[in-house]
Amino acid sequence: MHEGSFFAQVNMMFDRAAVYTQHSPGLLSQIKNCNCVYHVSFPLVRDNGEIEVISAYRAEHSHHMQPTKGGIRYAPTVTADEVMALAALMTYKCAIVDVPFGGAKGGITIDRRKYSERELERVTRRFTFELAKKNFIGPGVDVPAPDYGTSAKEMTWILDTYTTITADPLDALACVTGKPVGQGGVRGRVEATGQGTFYGIREACAIVEDMQALGLDEGVEGKRVIVQGLGNVGYHAALYLEEAGALLVGMAEYEGGIYNPDGLRLQDVMEHRCETGSILNFPGATNIEDSAYTLELECDILLPAALEGQIRIDNVHRIQAKIIAEAANGPVTASADQILNEKGILVIPDMYLNAGGVTVSYFEWLRNLSHVRHGRMSRRFEAHNAQRILQVVQNLLEGQQGTPEQRMIKPDLEFGASEADLVQSGLEDTMVSAYHEIHKTARFHATDLRTGAFVSAIDKIAQGYERLGIFP
Ligand code: NAD
Repeated sequence: MHEGSFFAQVNMMFDRAAVYTQHSPGLLSQIKNCNCVYHVSFPLVRDNGEIEVISAYRAEHSHHMQPTKGGIRYAPTVTADEVMALAALMTYKCAIVDVPFGGAKGGITIDRRKYSERELERVTRRFTFELAKKNFIGPGVDVPAPDYGTSAKEMTWILDTYTTITADPLDALACVTGKPVGQGGVRGRVEATGQGTFYGIREACAIVEDMQALGLDEGVEGKRVIVQGLGNVGYHAALYLEEAGALLVGMAEYEGGIYNPDGLRLQDVMEHRCETGSILNFPGATNIEDSAYTLELECDILLPAALEGQIRIDNVHRIQAKIIAEAANGPVTASADQILNEKGILVIPDMYLNAGGVTVSYFEWLRNLSHVRHGRMSRRFEAHNAQRILQVVQNLLEGQQGTPEQRMIKPDLEFGASEADLVQSGLEDTMVSAYHEIHKTARFHATDLRTGAFVSAIDKIAQGYERLGIFP
């Protein structure tokens, strides 16, 4: 059964939430529609001399805030519809976590495993050039970042190409985020989406009544997790969950899945995959030849972190998880989402849960525009302040014969916050506050978290249009 295109599904979910708002149909339509999509084709001369035509896209969904912001994906699935859907999710995501960008997304329709590094570099540089020609990239215009199939390396090529052609090199560093730290990137960006995903799951699991309704105990510790996709987002989310005491019982990659109800150690599985080229045949685990079937196995938390459309009308009835943590964008179709809600399964929606990436990208963009590392001017000052406080405490302790443990507080406190500390604390604060905001909205309307997240996003975007004075 065809459930409608990805963008149509995002819009169905939007419509479900829009009835809870007070905005006019015209304004809702403006918020929902995609402002512009650029489709470009260009030739790639492959290493063997053959010519191949490459298709690439950039969608800017909403200009109610500028610049627009969103990743660039390399995948065979990339179409105009896919980037429009992903750009729309970016608009709502930025609104939910109060990051002042409109939503955008780009993609190149290629399976990166079939191209050499030099070919990927040529494709990336050419795409950047095409974007610049049409004013679809720039620090105040549209700022890409990594997504599925791309990483800091591609961001470096984008930066280098843009810097070469721009007439305004002063702020050029801010034309793209997710760069390596040595090239204007910010510490913590690589793991940010997975880490933010963990914070979101942790907040959800901390609400006792919600866990009781699912028949689960409070907290992440001991929760059985299945993760689909061990790339940037899936790997880091799984890592933080494991550190917090969750049990990783299942993992799925494109080559198949593995399951062990007693738990799988993430690092061991990654090493096994490095050595053998596959997660299959991991000692002690059962192989699941059809990777998609892994999603249907028993667990408390299912973490889809690969691509969209993984839980659909045809497999939703077989899902056994009590919580679905949408680390990927659009892993649950609109029809499947309704069924999950009816079954009382808690779905933590993508546009909130994977917002850690854009949150830290925002910190990187600010750092690039301010031309100073976060904490550079305050770190020593904080350290001196802490030393002064410690001196007072020390004097008191000496006077009162404090215990050795009390005297041990000094080494922990006498350093100011580093950039990594500031980024992590900004990310945690953002994810925690946003969770409680969407949870409160959902409760107020007696609805699910996704609808709560949409309502919150729609209201903020409407305010953005009001500020622009476009609508009365
Ligand atoms: P990635 O390319 O680093 O990793 C994706 C992983 O999924 C790969 O290991 C791939 O082999 C695996 N995979 C692909 N198809 C699969 C399948 N059918 N079954 C199991 N595994 C499969 O990509 P990523 O950056 O981790 O992105 C994953 C998802 O998270 C995407 O939906 C992306 O849009 C979303 N996201 C990413 C970021 C980010 O900062 N990278 C931010 C927000 C959202």
